[in-house]
Amino acid sequence: MSTFLFHDLIYGPIKSRRLGNSLGINLLPTDKKYCNFNCVYCECGANVPGGKINLPRRAEIAAALSEKLKQLHSQGIAVDSITFAGNGEPTIHPDFEGVMQDTVNERNKYFPEAVISVLSNATRISKPEVVEALMLIDNRILKLDSAIESTAKAIDRPVGEYSVARIVDLLKGFNGDFTLQTMFLEGDVNGVHINNMTEQEVSAWLDVVKTTRPKKVMIYTIDRDTPEQNLRKATHEELDSIRDRVKAAGFEVSVSY
Ligand code: SF4
Repeated sequence: MSTFLFHDLIYGPIKSRRLGNSLGINLLPTDKKYCNFNCVYCECGANVPGGKINLPRRAEIAAALSEKLKQLHSQGIAVDSITFAGNGEPTIHPDFEGVMQDTVNERNKYFPEAVISVLSNATRISKPEVVEALMLIDNRILKLDSAIESTAKAIDRPVGEYSVARIVDLLKGFNGDFTLQTMFLEGDVNGVHINNMTEQEVSAWLDVVKTTRPKKVMIYTIDRDTPEQNLRKATHEELDSIRDRVKAAGFEVSVSY
């Protein structure tokens, strides 16, 4: 298994399947993954406990972003999205709110049309300062991999406390102003069979879509190497069938195969 780590604070712009010409920002360490989930499918690999965690400081991030945007602007290179993803969960950064403020300022200077997106596992939306920070930007892309507690925990392997019911309640607080992102897959991990595409799973998940009313739903499947080996990608037919049900319920949906 090879892992895919971002070795820079700022990377790209890269052509994203979902976000266009996307400049990436990695608020996590550049030498290891740092996340409060340990998803079976994580492209960054499995969590490795211990060791020093070096996070970039707010001033360093703002200076690097300003420099990069200035350079891209002068070269005539388009930026459709400034996207916070990287080697773990971006909202863990202690200055997350300040970083969002700085990013809005820099975006407005150089690429006012670009959207700022954060890909988050939604574990920290119980914190008012995290929600306030997420509301400063354009796209809150929040993960929920199953509406069923045991399946969500088997897929995402949260490091601390995690409750799907609690996350769903908190998602309702966004009044639909977020994107729901879900990874679909099947597999066996440590003797446990996982499949979030059964009728029971999809229908419970669809109920969450209907009660939280996201402005957009993104569904996708495995695209790179995963830390767990016995996983299977969702087929085109499986994803199309879920997509059609989301559409029929009246929601905008995108699929990445
Ligand atoms: S939430 Fe994202 S970074 Fe964290 S383990 Fe899951 S896939 Fe990896």
